[in-house]
Amino acid sequence: MSVVAGCDVGSLATKAVIMDKRRIVASVIIRSGPRPAESAQKAMDQVLSESGLLSGDISYCVGTGYGREKIPFVNESLSEISCHGKGAMFLVPSTRSVIDIGGQDCKVIKLDAKGNLVKFITNDKCASGTGRFLDVMAKVMNIPVSELGDLSLTSREPITLASMCTVWAQADVIKNINARRPAQDICAGINTAMANRVSMLANAMSLENDICMTGGVAKNKGVVHALARLMGKRIKDIRQVDPQLVGAVGAALFAHEKAGKTKEARS
Ligand code: ADP
Repeated sequence: MSVVAGCDVGSLATKAVIMDKRRIVASVIIRSGPRPAESAQKAMDQVLSESGLLSGDISYCVGTGYGREKIPFVNESLSEISCHGKGAMFLVPSTRSVIDIGGQDCKVIKLDAKGNLVKFITNDKCASGTGRFLDVMAKVMNIPVSELGDLSLTSREPITLASMCTVWAQADVIKNINARRPAQDICAGINTAMANRVSMLANAMSLENDICMTGGVAKNKGVVHALARLMGKRIKDIRQVDPQLVGAVGAALFAHEKAGKTKEARS
């Protein structure tokens, strides 16, 4: 059996995927704790239990994400850029550009037809344009971040946030709540501000209509729609798995390739 695993320890969420012959057999997403090694172990224990497998059944494991260097059980660790690119192209083969928005950064990645990295750009200097911006705003709105997207899609008169800075935008949201602006209009303003920030980064890369969005924020349809509108491009949907898992899927795919090579070298 060629069972492999990918483990993506992110700043906010830890994701683990088990694959057998490039087919996903189990996956989990848990909240990251302060210690990446513990988050990774917890995610791995859960995904093994979900699959009914034991750690000894995993022939190769690749780690990725912000905490990748701290994962004790991996055979190797690889960058999130490589893993998101790999995962996105596997799930949507026509993908040549990936926009990954996670908890603390945003990356725009360009790939060639073979999936090799052509170039990338990242914003990790500021919370605006990251999932944390949305988490802060959802908290101020007193709604779960998972509802921010659908709610915004029902807006008729979106507000415009005066600033993209998380601190000032937060004050602006509070002002609009106190002015009794409808929640859906405030949510639409928040998602558009987020999309604005990301589109600035994406526009610097001259993307085509071959874009796939990955990371937890890809689940926010309000951000995805606003981004597509601002860039004037189509964004392809990932349907087979939760888009937050794409980095871990990519890591498992690399593990699959490495396991194959190790087996070849032994025979
Ligand atoms: P990281 O790898 O940095 O931990 P993730 O790719 O896991 O980041 O994404 C985390 C972000 O995803 C959160 O900041 C949050 O804004 C967003 N998110 C998580 N779950 C959902 C959901 N169900 N709907 C919308 N957004 C979500």
